[in-house]
Amino acid sequence: MLNNNFVNKNTKLIEDKACFFIDNIFSAGITAGFTNSSFSGRLPSDFNRLLSYTGKKASFSYMDQKHLSEVVIIQNPGFYEADGLFTKNKNHFLVVKTADCLPLLFADKDHLIGVIHMGWRPAKKGILKNIPFNLADFKVAAGLGLRSCCYQVGDEFREFEELSSYLKITPKGVFFNPVQFARDQLISKGLNKDNFFDLGLCSYCSKRNFFSYRRDKTIQRNLSFIGIN
Ligand SMILES: [Zn+2]
Repeated sequence: MLNNNFVNKNTKLIEDKACFFIDNIFSAGITAGFTNSSFSGRLPSDFNRLLSYTGKKASFSYMDQKHLSEVVIIQNPGFYEADGLFTKNKNHFLVVKTADCLPLLFADKDHLIGVIHMGWRPAKKGILKNIPFNLADFKVAAGLGLRSCCYQVGDEFREFEELSSYLKITPKGVFFNPVQFARDQLISKGLNKDNFFDLGLCSYCSKRNFFSYRRDKTIQRNLSFIGIN
């Protein structure tokens, strides 16, 4: 039986007018969160507005998210062809755009930070296995995205070796649980199970104001971000 009960009791979100900030997960000096639909998710134009909510001065990097499995470690702010970014640079935010795919936010105790855009295609292609280091010292937050309540998939998923253990077969159809998939894969990369935090927010059925491609066929996106000050 699959479940989504990984919401840690200490997980706390602080709601601003346009953003949610993740509190109580990452160490001091890390700013992380995600936007609501008062942003359209256009980059780079939305970034300065986002910064105004963080109260920080910083540069940022984002991705040409092609639903592939490339994860890169970067030095310089910019636009990268990848679905995962990591950096150690201070005052440098990493931003991922989603409207149902799962954003994963990473930070270790030495302030190496990362973002991953995990739809089912990157998941199937092994994006989490491509993270080029052990995750023993990391904390990871699974952000706003489809949860198994709304992640209905085709019957062909039963043939996908990588994903088939994370399906719930019901009379209504087949449902994928991306959070449990991510958790297991990250634990196999060294993550301590107590350091995986599910924010538990479904982009589709949350009563909050978020974009969902499945629900609205929108081109607008939620922005999830993490940065070191
Ligand atoms: Zn849902």
